[in-house]
This record gives sequence, structure tokens and C-alpha cells, in this order.
Amino acid sequence: MKAIVDPQKCTVCGVCQDVCPVGAITVTETAAEISDSCTLCGMCVDTCEFGALSLPEVGTGASDDLASYQGVWVFAEWRQGQVHRVAHELLGSGRKLADKRKVELAAVLIGHQLDGHISELIAHGADAVYVVDRPELAHFTDEAYAGVLHELIRRKKPEILLAGATSMGRSFIPRVAALVSTGLTADCTELDISDEGLLLQTRPAFGGNVMATIVCPNRRPQMATVRPKVMKPCCDTSRKARVEMVDVPTSCFQTRVQVLEVIPEQEATAKLAEAEVIVSGGRGLRNADNFELLAELARLINGAVGASRGAVDEGWMDPSRQVGQTGQTVAPTLYLAVGLAGAIQHVVGMQGSKLIVAVNKDAHAPIFDVASCGVVADLFDLIPALIRKIKAERGDETCKMPGA
Ligand code: FAD
Repeated sequence: MKAIVDPQKCTVCGVCQDVCPVGAITVTETAAEISDSCTLCGMCVDTCEFGALSLPEVGTGASDDLASYQGVWVFAEWRQGQVHRVAHELLGSGRKLADKRKVELAAVLIGHQLDGHISELIAHGADAVYVVDRPELAHFTDEAYAGVLHELIRRKKPEILLAGATSMGRSFIPRVAALVSTGLTADCTELDISDEGLLLQTRPAFGGNVMATIVCPNRRPQMATVRPKVMKPCCDTSRKARVEMVDVPTSCFQTRVQVLEVIPEQEATAKLAEAEVIVSGGRGLRNADNFELLAELARLINGAVGASRGAVDEGWMDPSRQVGQTGQTVAPTLYLAVGLAGAIQHVVGMQGSKLIVAVNKDAHAPIFDVASCGVVADLFDLIPALIRKIKAERGDETCKMPGA
């Protein structure tokens, strides 16, 4: 999509060419011409005193061909040679939606050298896998991946498109939604479908104080992103599916971005997301040194240390350790919440944990509402005692208080 020129009104004055910040306008002898680099910023429209430029209408009114859109799609994100777990989780959720709607579930794989990923997408629930495999797509860029996904949607018309609310999904999926003129609900925590085929997209709203269910009745596809570890994957290695290698024109993946280097994700972030045991601390820890207590406990039970935003804002823990709405979503087997209140913004990031154990000296702390079991105690009594007990059972009696 790009700005529209009315050649009858264009006086070829060249002012629009000068103001365009991305160089998308060339003034020829007869009229201004807009290239695909146009970002729809509207500066040319505001500047043209002859009213010769306008922006296309985006997402207004109902699409007239809603019924021609069919099927559920999952964007299968992969990085560093591995399919991201969120793709498996979305296929698990997409499977339920597709079965309710009695339509096909497809995974979309974009990149290069992708053969090794196809069978796992099928095992995780896909009835079809659309593959766009080009060397130019080996590294992710917003423009190229958005261009390819836009082209696939244009050709095949899926009714629903799901993607991970990862740094990649958050970056390019809104661009895809804009290109196809539809709505997007980001960071959903729950998905369902109505009898009429409306995707019911539930997510925290108003700073996490209410859960809102959002629908997109007039445009297609219905698009949502979901955080990792919110949905449950399913796996059946005996499943069979259709695989379609799709050829798209090079114009779809042209980009102004050149990837110079790919820096792997920070280890702390990756560890927290994958950890089966997390010991998380909050402002109740009082200072950064006291987090060593949690680190010691985490080491003993083979866990990772997380933190509330309260603790991160105090500068006691690195932001990569933050759990919650503006941090990471985790779902370990055991989440030990120590000296943190359990604000809704924290809870949305850890409520998928199998067992939540809370330690708080305030019996009315909201964390106890979500905890599987809770201990009303001073953490500075309980955690050292717990460490001592574990060590005693393993034949090592020492437990130092931080700073001691
Ligand atoms: P506090 O609220 O100060 O709670 C400390 C707790 O420690 C209390 O319950 C207290 O009883 C207990 N305590 C104190 N001393 C002891 C002791 N000796 N022994 C045992 N217990 C003790 N927060 C997040 O965590 N993650 C997010 O991603 C996030 N995103 C946000 C996004 C927005 C838009 C907003 C507005 C807020 C967000 N917050 C987030 C902040 C959130 O609302 C809370 O302010 C924050 O989680 C509070 O951190 P806390 O529980 O550590 O601190």
C-alpha cells in the first residue's frame, strides 16, 4: 500500500518529492510517482497544496468477501536453526480452533534451509505447511518477512493468523496487519472461537486490571499474537500433512535493511524462559545483596532466579530477569515467589506455572490468591532455614546470610 496521486491535480511542483522522508516520490514530467518504499506517513499529503495526494483507506468498513477466507494459520518462527517453542504452543491452540471451525490448520515457515523443521510442525498439529525457502530470507528482517507473509495471505486467504508475541512477532506482525488492512490483538492469554467463526482474543487491558475479549468482526484475517508459554503444545509424530513449497516474487522480500551480524539471545533471558524451577524475589528482599540468598536456593534446586518489576526498578536485578506483563512469561514446574506481592502485572507472567509456592509475611498478599501453597513467614527466617535443611539432607550444614 502506498500514497495515491491524482494526476489531474498534480502540478509536478516537486514539493512532495522534497518532503518525503524515505525518498519514495519521484516527480516525472506528468505527475508524481510513488514507489513501494512509501510508509504511508502522510507528509506528502499534508504538504501538497493542490490536494493531489491522498492515503488509501485502511481497515475501514467491512471487507465484502469475508466468507472467502478459510483456515487457521500459525506463523512458525524459528531462530538459530530451531523452531521456537511458541510455534508448537500456537499449533496446539490453533488445532483446537481449527477443529471447532472444521477447517485446516496450516503452519507458515519462512526462511532458508527449512527442511528439518517441517516434520516437527506436522507432529505438533499442522494439516499443511507452507514453506517459502530463499537464501535472501535466511536472516529475519521486518520488511522481507512481512512482504512474504502479506503475499501468502493475499493468495490463500486464511481466516485466522496466530504468531508468537516474541521480539520477532512483535516487530513484524503489526506491519503485516497494516498491509492487509486488518486488526491485530497483541499479547493474548486466551483464544477461543464463536459459532460464527469470530476469534475471541482475550488479553489483559487497562494496566492488567481487567481481562478484555476482543473480536475483529469486519476484516480478515483475524490476527493475534500470543506470548510464549501461555498455550499448551500437543505432539503426535504419526501425523501426516500436506507440504507446499511456495514461490513468491523477489519484490515481496525486498528490504532496506542489511543484516551485518546476528548476536545470540542473552543467556539469562533464555535460561529463565526455559527453566523448570524459578525462585523469584520482590521488594521484600530489601536490597541487591539479599538476592544472593535466592541465588543460593536456586543453585541447590537447579533453578533460575527471577524478579518482580519492583525489584528490577530498585536496580537489584537485571531487567532480563523480570517476570510479568512487561517482562517475561514463564511456566516452570515450580515457581517460588518470595517477598513479592503478586500484582496482576506479575501474575500474568507466571500464572501458567504448574506449582506456585508463595512466601510472604503479609497473609493478605494477593500472591496467595494464585499460589498452590503459601507460607506466611518472614523470608529472612524461612529461606535460610530451607537452605540449611536442603544442605543438611545433602551433608552440608552451612548457610551464610548475605553480607555475613
Ligand atoms: P511490593 O508491592 O512492594 O511487594 C513486596 C512484598 O514483599 C509485599 O507483599 C510484602 O508483604 C512482602 N515482604 C516484605 N518484606 C518481607 C519479608 N521480610 N518476608 C516476606 N515477605 C516480605 N510488575 C512485575 O512484577 N512484572 C511486570 O512485568 C510488571 N509490569 C507492569 C506494567 C505496568 C503497565 C504497570 C503499571 C505495573 C507493572 N508492574 C509489573 C508493577 C506491579 O504493578 C507491582 O508494582 C510490582 O510487581 C511490585 O513488586 P513487588 O511485589 O516486588 O513489590
